[in-house]
Amino acid sequence: KTAGTLPRLKVLLAGPRGFCAGVDRAIRVVEEAIRRYGAPVYVRHEIVHNRTVVEMLEKKGAIFVEELDEVPEDAHVVFSAHGVPKSVPVEAQRRNLLYLDATCPLVSKVHREAERHYANGDPEESRHILMIGHAGHPEVVGTMGQLPPGAVTLINDAEEARTVQPENQDRLAFITQTTLSVDDTAEIVKILRERFPNIEGPRREDICYATTNRQEAVKQIASSCDLMIVIGSPNSSNSQRLREVAERSGAPRAILLPRLDDLDWSVLEGVEALGITAGASAPESLVQEMVQALSHRYELQIEERSVKEEHVTFRLPFPLG
Ligand code: SF4
Repeated sequence: KTAGTLPRLKVLLAGPRGFCAGVDRAIRVVEEAIRRYGAPVYVRHEIVHNRTVVEMLEKKGAIFVEELDEVPEDAHVVFSAHGVPKSVPVEAQRRNLLYLDATCPLVSKVHREAERHYANGDPEESRHILMIGHAGHPEVVGTMGQLPPGAVTLINDAEEARTVQPENQDRLAFITQTTLSVDDTAEIVKILRERFPNIEGPRREDICYATTNRQEAVKQIASSCDLMIVIGSPNSSNSQRLREVAERSGAPRAILLPRLDDLDWSVLEGVEALGITAGASAPESLVQEMVQALSHRYELQIEERSVKEEHVTFRLPFPLG
């Protein structure tokens, strides 16, 4: 086809989108570990929830495992950006594994908050913690695993916030997963504060800057789009939330797209304005690949719509930093 005969398509690119500082750092940790110590370097759990990133690191010499018992003696092992329960570094030490912790500093901050509320279980000081988050997500498993069993109760949704019956309702605190929907969490927090007026919470949200900004960017363009494509993996919490936010903010349809090969082109039928964003674990190369592929089928009119500039970077953890 020649350019003149291609149908027109307006593409709105949400900004910020894609990699956050925590993901960028976690990838650099694995790359730097391979450079310093040589391949293979083991990584417990997908370093970030994205197949493209995992495969890129596998090519460089990373081996991904789910549990430490799959890591041989004396090997180097990296813990993923989502954080790990306390039992994991303890087990790594017991087995003489050399471990590097790529937990995002913003997740570690929530870990420390949880420890502060627990106050070593001191009967005078300790608060029971309600963690707002999604059951089974590795970040939730890691954060709850900072404290002994029973110290934290998980609140999955508003309904659970309405029905939870903690023992001592005067000594409560809440923390949250970093990648939740800003609006859903605000509603859950409101319910908890109404039911438990003495509950303590973080001074500033536990939901991280990257999650907040990416949701805000999607809100700005959603109602101008016929379809929103969120580039991200199904197991990526913040990507899933972006898809929901798009639909709630006026996009008639929003889909999650792990990568271009997964695209069913028929979803674009009748679409005149397409929104594109990417989850915090999805590389920009996937967005560019998508735009490139679209340019072969459409005459594109591309608009970047950025709501905020981000300048956050994190240093590498000891001993790499
Ligand atoms: Fe850290 Fe937020 Fe990125 Fe998670 S999404 S790795 S908390 S910056």
